[in-house]
Amino acid sequence: IVRIALAEMQGQASAPLYILSFRDVSELRRIDRMRSDFVANASHELRTPLASLRGFIETMQGPARDDPKARERFLGIMLDQATRMSRLVDDLMSLSRLELRANIAPDQKVDLVPLLGHVRDSLLPLAQDLDIEINLHMPAEKVEVIGDRDELVQVFQNLVENACKYGQDGKVVDVFLRANPGKPVEVGVVDKGPGIPAEHVPRLTERFYRVSVADSRSKKGTGLGLAIVKHILTRHRARLIIRSELDVGTDFTVRF
Ligand code: ADP
Repeated sequence: IVRIALAEMQGQASAPLYILSFRDVSELRRIDRMRSDFVANASHELRTPLASLRGFIETMQGPARDDPKARERFLGIMLDQATRMSRLVDDLMSLSRLELRANIAPDQKVDLVPLLGHVRDSLLPLAQDLDIEINLHMPAEKVEVIGDRDELVQVFQNLVENACKYGQDGKVVDVFLRANPGKPVEVGVVDKGPGIPAEHVPRLTERFYRVSVADSRSKKGTGLGLAIVKHILTRHRARLIIRSELDVGTDFTVRF
C-alpha cells in the first residue's frame, strides 16, 4: 500500500511537501491466508467423518436394517469415526487455548524426572498394544526447568506416542533426559522406525501436515500433534530438533 499525502507546511514557502508512506502488509496477508486455510482444513477434516457417519446411519436404517452382523460392524466403524472427531475437536481446542495464552509466559518450576515417568506410564497401554518397550534414561536427581507442567506433559506425550505409532517396527522407544553442567537441558525421544524422508522434515510442525495420508489415517492421527508441540515449545523458548534417517529411525529432541 502506498499512501501519498500532500502537505503544505503552514506559513512557509508555497512549495508543496510530498510524503510517501509505505506499509508492508505481506505478513498480515500471510497470517490471514493461514487462518482461512486452517478453517478450511479443519472443516474438511470434520466433514469427512461426519459424512461417513451419515452414510452408515442411512445404511443401517435401510439395507442393513435386518442384518445384525453388518449392524455390529458398522457400529464399530461409527464409534471409530466419532472418536476421531473428538480427538480433532480436542486438538483444535488445545491450539486455540494456546493461542489465547500466547502472551503469558509459563512460570512453574517443573521437575522433568517424575514428569517423564508419568508420560511413560500413561502410554504403557498403547505401547503394550503395539508391542513396544518404552525405555527411560534419566539422571537420579531432579532436573528442573521453568515451564507449564500440563503443557510439557502434552509435548512429551505427543512425541512418545508418535514414536510408538510411527516407529512401531523398531520395537523400542528410548527417552533420554540430558542435564549436563554448562549445557542446555535436553529430552530426546528416539525410535528405530522407518524414518522420515528429508523433504518432509521441515514441514512436520505445520497444522494438518502428514507424511502419508493413508498411513496417518490408519494410525489415527489428526495432523495437529506436532503443531501443538511447536506452539508449546515456542512459549517455553525451547527448540524442537528433528533428526531422521531412513531405515534407521527418528530422533525428536527438545532443547530448553
Ligand atoms: P498425527 O496426528 O498425524 O500423528 P503429528 O503432527 O503428530 O500428526 O505428526 C505429523 C506427521 O509426522 C505424522 O502424520 C507422521 O507422518 C510424521 N511423524 C511424526 N512422528 C514420527 C516418527 N517418530 N516417525 C515417523 N514419522 C513421524
